[in-house]
Amino acid sequence: MTKMVKSGIIYHMTKSITYINYNPLTSELAVPYLWLSFQAHIEENYPESAWLWNESISFSESTLATIIETKPALILTSMYTWSYDKLIVLLKEVKKHLPDTTIIVGGPHQIYKVNPAWFKEHPFIDYVCREDGYGEAFLTAMLKALDEGLSMDTVPFCIYPTENRLNYKQATTEYLKRGFKWPSKVFERFANKLTGDYNTIFYESSRGCPYKCTYCEWSGGTGDKVSFKPTELILEDIDFLLSNFNLKAFEIIDANFGIIPRDIDIIKAIIAKNPKLKINIAGPTKTNSKHLLEIYKLLTKHSMLDTQTLAIQETSPEALKNILRKNLPLEDHMSIHRALQEEFPEKHLAEFELILGLPGATLDSFFDIFKLCNKYHMAYSRHKWKLLPTSPAAAKEYVEEYQIKVLSVELPEDVTNYRFNEVGTMVDTSAVDIVVGTYSYSKEDWITMYLVDCMAQTYYNNDIIQPLANYLGKDIIKDIYYNIIPNLGGVQSQLFDILMEHTINVVELNHSKDLSRVDISATKFKILIYPKALFSLLLLINPANFFLSIHKFYGKEDKKLLDLCHFLIQMIKSPKAKDLVVSEYKWDTKARLRGGLYHYAIKGSKNYDPKEYLSGVLTNYTSTKLESIL
Ligand code: SF4
Repeated sequence: MTKMVKSGIIYHMTKSITYINYNPLTSELAVPYLWLSFQAHIEENYPESAWLWNESISFSESTLATIIETKPALILTSMYTWSYDKLIVLLKEVKKHLPDTTIIVGGPHQIYKVNPAWFKEHPFIDYVCREDGYGEAFLTAMLKALDEGLSMDTVPFCIYPTENRLNYKQATTEYLKRGFKWPSKVFERFANKLTGDYNTIFYESSRGCPYKCTYCEWSGGTGDKVSFKPTELILEDIDFLLSNFNLKAFEIIDANFGIIPRDIDIIKAIIAKNPKLKINIAGPTKTNSKHLLEIYKLLTKHSMLDTQTLAIQETSPEALKNILRKNLPLEDHMSIHRALQEEFPEKHLAEFELILGLPGATLDSFFDIFKLCNKYHMAYSRHKWKLLPTSPAAAKEYVEEYQIKVLSVELPEDVTNYRFNEVGTMVDTSAVDIVVGTYSYSKEDWITMYLVDCMAQTYYNNDIIQPLANYLGKDIIKDIYYNIIPNLGGVQSQLFDILMEHTINVVELNHSKDLSRVDISATKFKILIYPKALFSLLLLINPANFFLSIHKFYGKEDKKLLDLCHFLIQMIKSPKAKDLVVSEYKWDTKARLRGGLYHYAIKGSKNYDPKEYLSGVLTNYTSTKLESIL
């Protein structure tokens, strides 16, 4: 290491650092927060450092070439469930071309614990910042260690391989997270580097989470003390960011935003600066419904919140106990929802967010959510449960206790699962480990839950069956799945049978890993299609058969129900709002979800074109134009 002395301070000769930032949706458009935070912390805590920072880069065709050309001495990146596979491919290539470059990975998605030989299998990785580590503190100490030739034991949060790389060591140097000195003016001090056309900021006003939900891996760590960024620094950041960039979205990535009263002031400061922003709160507080209501009221009033997400995860109390989920009681969630619905009937939208197949869940608890959706007129979303390697649920004891069965599958409809080749081109999907069985449900149950979920996410969230459920005053998902679709006959039932067979082949018989691309070429449609899109297609090819079968099933004599079914048939078929069915009944009561079909049909939006709308749902998932299918 070359050194130079200036004003009595030792400066180390320059070497460069490249930070790879990969977010499948917003890499280019998001202000590179972490990259700046690293630099600011190093400026404040290791001013004599002479490391130079290359521009933060994301994945593109030229990623590898850029790295090779700039020859950084150090590469940093954060690994998440959506980026792990892509980064591993890329970093291996980097090391081939630049064997002297030190490669360090951080982020919550780490495999070294579940596979101690991970360093041996990944010889191109030099060091890891522990999954709950504070990257700024780690990197500051790491640069000093590299500059001075110090042991990695001096670098807090450092994980490094044993000599034969068959195991790992952890630095014994402790770091008090509560003592973390948040760097100031993270954005303003690097204004000259912020040259992108940014429209999004992922912002943290606190780090870490005191809870320990067993399925979760979270940057900054769980089950740990929370470090709050000083309010004055946050207000400075807000002022600078919103004065200098034309941001459209402000993503608050705290685990428990709203937990302390000052979070309300943060929202007020953002509103005062730009009331047109969209704000998303990734992790609302799990304990303070009063703060949360106030925050949501402010945001809804200014139309800054798209949807209130009620992350209840499961309805089964047993499952909630098993996953150690700390949350607001359901009644508190619902009272916030009702208060917002009352005060902002035209603006407020809400949805439940759940996870499929947690331990303790059953088929009954799975179907319970639709009763709630129906009762409270809400949409819903449900994630498949990916077993994340640093989550407590991945521990051997937990897997054994709850008899967790994992299946490695490809889920190409999930944009976070694409696999890239070494030059950053998307080539296919990577397999992910999802849970398909526990002590409380079988694989067969899981298949039912999965297929109903695909169907519900298409039909419920697009208002296709919600109006019927409202009219009938009950959840009808179960009947549609078990009794109506299988008996539609013709191609509609054939499509459903193919989907069922495909899913059984993957989940029970392991004939293939590709869960979501279903080959329907045995029908007149010569395509591979995703399950959600298959349900869309199934409806589009014969909406009359679909809705009249529902009428037949629930009450042949019910004229009002028949009128509603005709209304819905027309809603699907009608090319323009002016052709909407005129009914003697008012079908618009309690039907508003998230701006789905029914909403447009009732409102008569001039942009309303249901076929286009549904073909959007379809083509998003097939990349095949609807016209070429139907
Ligand atoms: S899911 Fe949220 S509340 Fe639970 S441990 Fe993770 S970050 Fe904390």
